[in-house]
Formats: sequence, structure tokens, C-alpha cells
Amino acid sequence: MYQVTLIRGDGTGPELVEATRRVLEGTGVAFEWDVVEAGVDIMETAGTPLPDNVLASIRKNKVALKGPITTPIGTGFRSVNVALRKELDLYACIRPCKSYVGVRSRYTDVDLVIVRENTEDLYAGVEYPVDSAEAGQIIGMANGKIRQDSAISIKPISRTGSRQIVKAAFDYAVENGRKKVTAVAKANIMKYTDGLFYEIAREVAKDYEGQVEYDEWLVDAMCMQLVQKPENYDVLVMENLYGDILSDLCAGLVGGLGVAPGANIGVDMALFEATHGSAPKYKNQNKVNPTAMILSGMLMLKYLKEDEAAAKLEKAVADVIAEGKSVTYDMKADRNDPTAVGTAEMADAIIAKMQAG
Ligand code: NAD
Repeated sequence: MYQVTLIRGDGTGPELVEATRRVLEGTGVAFEWDVVEAGVDIMETAGTPLPDNVLASIRKNKVALKGPITTPIGTGFRSVNVALRKELDLYACIRPCKSYVGVRSRYTDVDLVIVRENTEDLYAGVEYPVDSAEAGQIIGMANGKIRQDSAISIKPISRTGSRQIVKAAFDYAVENGRKKVTAVAKANIMKYTDGLFYEIAREVAKDYEGQVEYDEWLVDAMCMQLVQKPENYDVLVMENLYGDILSDLCAGLVGGLGVAPGANIGVDMALFEATHGSAPKYKNQNKVNPTAMILSGMLMLKYLKEDEAAAKLEKAVADVIAEGKSVTYDMKADRNDPTAVGTAEMADAIIAKMQAG
């Protein structure tokens, strides 16, 4: 019996999480769910979108499944999603992007994994507005390289952050039988920050020599490689911002956000969530695609070393998609196809497949 924190999220989150919970239970693995609330709905009563009991529950259980959460605008709260990753030091974001037969996409046979650093880079939140004293000070130190009327964002890249993310990528490669890790950055321009990232990546790669291949690409060239020859790449490791952008690019290669799962991993804790957001316009309509959230649950099963259940679930999802019958509107050739099923019914079809198989 696994104790898992369940964050239902807001917008379409609760429907997606409920579908995923049922499917995970359908694998036969036993869970005890500690259901906690975060997001815009709880903010009205708790005064914060991230109440303390949410963090306490995850710290206790060490594993969490989370629905998407809307980032409230104009509250001063940056993002519950970013806050959770930072508070719990979930430094690695792992996003597999894999083609499934039946998902509409320009590409077939894509099987990539993005490993994105989650805690530093331009996401550190160290920013100074235009005309501020701090921006003025930095402009003064820059010997004429920065225009006077500039706002400033700081990009910190540390040895510690780089080492732990590159190591996470190599460990993922070893554990999942992957052949190659590619470090992606822009070290020809950012010689110190991205230069440090490459330097550390090369050091870490030495520890895996003979086991996992290593190579490097500049981020702009990597974008072209990915749209031309995505099949040449395997595990891609990068800093936070490049990882954010390439995650969406790679999700696009395999059919979009509806099918892109994710895992946020720390030293001894992990939180699983889809790459997509809360799609609030579809709230309470039993309409959106649960695949990304369910595949995030599949990644959770793998993390818990329930490999057999994970494989059974992934096969059931793949079979339902390949049949193309019990799938949501976004997976049909015509988005107005009246035979499209709802979120809950797609989950039912996946459960039925697991029971039949
Ligand atoms: P979104 O991912 O919610 O939606 C983008 C587009 O994809 C929309 O057209 C939406 O309808 C569609 N879409 C998303 N998920 C889908 C699904 N499962 N099935 C079918 N279609 C789907 O992105 P957004 O509109 O930019 O963001 C909405 C809110 O979600 C924002 O407040 C944002 O901050 C938040 N967000 C949260 C997370 C998270 O919880 N980790 C991630 C991204 C965005």
C-alpha cells in the first residue's frame, strides 16, 4: 500500500486527477490517497493557493500526484507550480515525449526524454525593473554594455545545480536503458554560465563512459535537429529556460500537450503532473484529454518500481489511442466528431483494456 499525496488542482484538474486515480487503482496496485487542496479554489477560503498542509503531506509521503493549477494573476504569488518545485527542491523535471500510434502528429517514432533543471537559471526570480536603483547599479558595473533604460534579469547557473541535473539525466538513462545523453546550451555566447554547465556535464559524463554516450548541441541548432531528425536523439539535458521551451517543442513532435506527461524529482521526493495547464475554459465539462495526466501516473508507478503495472497501464493507453474509438475530441480527426468520449469514459476504456489484457 503506497501513501500518496493527491493534489486535485483547479480548472479541469479535479476531473483529470479523478480519472487518473481510478486508472491507477485499476492496475491492481494499492494506494492510500492523502487528498489536499491547492490552487485558486482553496485560495478563497485559505487565503493562499498553497496551504502549509500541502507541503507537509508531500514531505511525509514523499510521492505526490498533482492536477494542473491556474496561476492567479495580480496576487503577488508567482506560481504554485514553481513554488512547489522550489520549496521541495524538486530539481529535475523529466518529460518523456513518445509517439503513440493513433495520435495525430507530423512525426512517427519519436522517443525522446527532456531532463530540465527546475530551480535556477532565469527562473530564480532575481529581476530588477527598468529605472530601479538595483538595475542602475548593475548597468554601472557593465562598462557600457547595457543600455541605461534596461530592466535586468539575472541568470544564475551553479556547479551544484548543473551537477545534480546532469547526473539525474545519466541515472535516468541507465535505469531506463537509454543510450545517449545530449547536453543543450548556448555556451558560445554565455561563456561563463552555459560554459560552466558544459564543463560540469563533461565531468559527469566521464563517470558513465562505456555505459551511456554523451554529446553536446547549441540550443538553436538543437531546435533544427529536433524538427528535422528527432529520431537521432534520446535523453536531452538542459537548464531551466531551454528545458521549458524544448519541452513544448518536443510535446508538439508527438501530438501536443494532451499527451505530454511529466515528473518533478528531488533527492528523496517526487511529484507527478502533466506538462499542460488547467485549461479552465473546459472546467466541469468532462471533455479534456486525460492521457497526459494518466501517463504522469504511469511515471509514478515506474518511480515506485511498479514496472509491471506501469507497462500494463502504458499498453492499455496505447491500445485505446490506437483504436481511436474511446478517445476525447482532441484525438479525433474532426474535433467536432460526435463519437468523441469524455474524460471519464476514456479512463473507463483504459481500465477495461487492462482488465481484458
Ligand atoms: P493550458 O495547457 O491549460 O492550455 C493550452 C491549450 O491546450 C488550450 O487550448 C487548452 O484547452 C489545451 N489543453 C490543455 N490541456 C488539455 C487536455 N488535457 N486536453 C485537451 N486540450 C488541452 O495552458 P494555458 O491556457 O496557458 O494555461 C492555463 C492555466 O494553467 C494558467 O493559469 C497557467 O499558469 C496554468 N498552468 C499550470 C501548469 C501546471 O499546473 N503545472 C502548467 C502550465 C500552465
